[in-house]
Amino acid sequence: MQIPTEPIGSVPRPPELIQAFNDRQAGVLSAAQFDLIATAALRDTIRRFEETGSPVITDGEQTKPSFATYPLAGLTNLAPGGVTIPFEDGHTRQLPCLASAPFHYATYASQYLAAARQLTTLPVKQAVISASALSLLYPASGIPNYSREAFLSDLVAEAVADIRSCLSTGADSVQIDFTEARLSLKLDPSGALLKSFVALNNRVLDHFTPDQLRRIGVHTCPGGDRDSTHSADVDYAALLPVLFQLRAGRFYVQLASEKDPLRVLKIIAENLQPHQTVFVGVIDPINPEVETAETVRDRILLAADFLPLAQLGATDDCGFAPFADDTSTSRDIAFAKIRARVAGVHLAGQQLGLS
Ligand SMILES: [Zn+2]
Repeated sequence: MQIPTEPIGSVPRPPELIQAFNDRQAGVLSAAQFDLIATAALRDTIRRFEETGSPVITDGEQTKPSFATYPLAGLTNLAPGGVTIPFEDGHTRQLPCLASAPFHYATYASQYLAAARQLTTLPVKQAVISASALSLLYPASGIPNYSREAFLSDLVAEAVADIRSCLSTGADSVQIDFTEARLSLKLDPSGALLKSFVALNNRVLDHFTPDQLRRIGVHTCPGGDRDSTHSADVDYAALLPVLFQLRAGRFYVQLASEKDPLRVLKIIAENLQPHQTVFVGVIDPINPEVETAETVRDRILLAADFLPLAQLGATDDCGFAPFADDTSTSRDIAFAKIRARVAGVHLAGQQLGLS
């Protein structure tokens, strides 16, 4: 037995791919030319992932416009001016809003997974966006003849289809990105918004069998864009007890950049259920300094003091570039950090007598 280790998902895109995204949007690059550049980036990403010794890889989200908005790529019933997410450094990201019925996904994440699986024999995990994040698309003013409840029913069906297609395309696991969980406590300190998000995501999870749920996880983090976060100041003590009520089998929890990881580990230990595995963050993608394998080992050993080994895994705190145009971290640093995580997991395994 080894301690399982997985990335979150995104890897910074090479400059030529970011340029291609811009040119495609401006209408000056054909779909065929874009695909050529995107496939080269994907090949390079997978080759470099394989070189890190990672037991599980991703496609680096090379062709996702962002972790949250990929299902919308190609929809024609959206309008600008949706929910704005403010980051600590002052920059913002804004969602569109739904302008007319019905809501459906234009893109399913299994398309990225299928492309990646053609290029590697390693297990590939796939990240999908939570239904709760996309629930923010429904405008406060409502949509004529399309109630919020009708929208949520369509949304749940699409989120289920998104996960189901990843499972049937051979995903090693499917990770639901739930970054708005921690943010929701900033918007609504009463916790009612968080509980409604968890309830909505459980409506999605209720469509899967216990076997499938073991392969479905949830990622929580304080956001990570342009080296800044949106909710790192929100106390985990308010979030984690509610988070672990999600009926998922795996949890990917940002921890390396927490001020007091020991306190967080105690909260996780109190709330982790017997059928759940927690992947603790041992790499901080926002800090440009590359962790040593020994630092990673020590972070895992600390977690092992609090959590049952059979339920413990290691991951990165977040993706390295959840938005495609984020160039705050280089590909070289991202892969050096992933290498350190894999090496640190081996060291921890030796120390724990696992290998
Ligand atoms: Zn994240």
